[in-house]
Amino acid sequence: MADAHAALTRLQFRDPERAAALVRALHRVTAEVRREPVAIMHVCGSHEQAIARFGLRAVFPRSLDVIMGPGCPVCITDLPEVDEAVALARQGIRLATYADMLKVRGSALSLADVQAEGARIDVVYSITQAVALARKTPSEPLVFFATGFETTAVATAAVILGDPPPNLSVLSAHKYIPPVMAIVSEMPDTRVEGFLAAGHAATITGWGIYEAFVARHRKPVVVAGFEPLDILAGLVRLVELVRDAAPEVANMYPRCVTKEGNLQAQQQLWRVFRPIGGRWRGIAHVPNGNLRLRDEWAGVDARRRFEIDVASLWDTAPPALVQQCICGDIMAGIASPRDCALFGRECLPDSAVGACMVSSEGTCRIWHQYGGHPDLAALPVDPYARRA
Ligand code: SF4
Ligand code: SF4
Repeated sequence: MADAHAALTRLQFRDPERAAALVRALHRVTAEVRREPVAIMHVCGSHEQAIARFGLRAVFPRSLDVIMGPGCPVCITDLPEVDEAVALARQGIRLATYADMLKVRGSALSLADVQAEGARIDVVYSITQAVALARKTPSEPLVFFATGFETTAVATAAVILGDPPPNLSVLSAHKYIPPVMAIVSEMPDTRVEGFLAAGHAATITGWGIYEAFVARHRKPVVVAGFEPLDILAGLVRLVELVRDAAPEVANMYPRCVTKEGNLQAQQQLWRVFRPIGGRWRGIAHVPNGNLRLRDEWAGVDARRRFEIDVASLWDTAPPALVQQCICGDIMAGIASPRDCALFGRECLPDSAVGACMVSSEGTCRIWHQYGGHPDLAALPVDPYARRA
């Protein structure tokens, strides 16, 4: 019975008839904007994955440009942050981190490079696994290299508040999404007219957090979930708001997201972290975009517990191909993977040149995995446009 109910709930958000009706509505409202292209940005790797996996780009109106922005926490972890982790590992400190972080290069080396030299690096799926590792070897320091947005930072905060083992430290490279939307909006070349916000991040922050952004930047934000119907419905609402020049926040994921969000999680997040300005890889300095441990947690903070010798890494030159990587422009929404000469040639998932090809949430990796971007211009007709 429970299985049947779960199946029905799943189908409810993948129902082809409802999807077709939403696609027709999307074509209609996009045409009603009366100029093209209409450009909107989503800031979540899971949205791009769902769009690619369900082939949604093939049914989007050709005049609607759905751009993936800086939505992958691996891609935007900046060179100096990776350098700190690499330097610690080279100094003989045992590290634990997510698998994708191993392949991301710092200014010259990646964690995988130093692992090959003999550094001890454990791959974990969550900070709780790092806690378990630290408990097993209490006499050995273990640093958890913590990456990810506010959704993951909440888990890090909960562990820090929950009496972690004394040999565990945290090297925080956590990022906070709302400020980067402001940066993208203010970029002189930006074409972005509205944002699709990540539903699961909003379960924590609440949709109300976007009100200040909308008031200041006069661009609509729609919070959307990750099933095909969630994304299509979110896009229809977003293009309606663009069409009506209505800078508002709309919550199209009400089954999970409230205006206030999860207050307990927010409390934990801000008790442990403070926002500071810092660079996001390839994008810019983002005021309040980085999350660092507050002074009161200095005892868990790897930056304060260890002398990190990053200068020793600067003698190693980065590979020449790295200079050609355009990840920064892709994450800022002003280029796509097809604009990169290395995409699918020198840069492949198994031999990634740039960060966007490393992570399963990176734009280049997703486009490569799902056959790239469909060449819509090559199709003779736009089947949904005729029925709109
Ligand atoms: S961490 Fe979550 S919200 Fe952020 S990009 Fe990944 S899936 Fe999306
Ligand atoms: S294809 Fe590779 S080199 Fe080109 S932008 Fe993407 S990650 Fe960088």
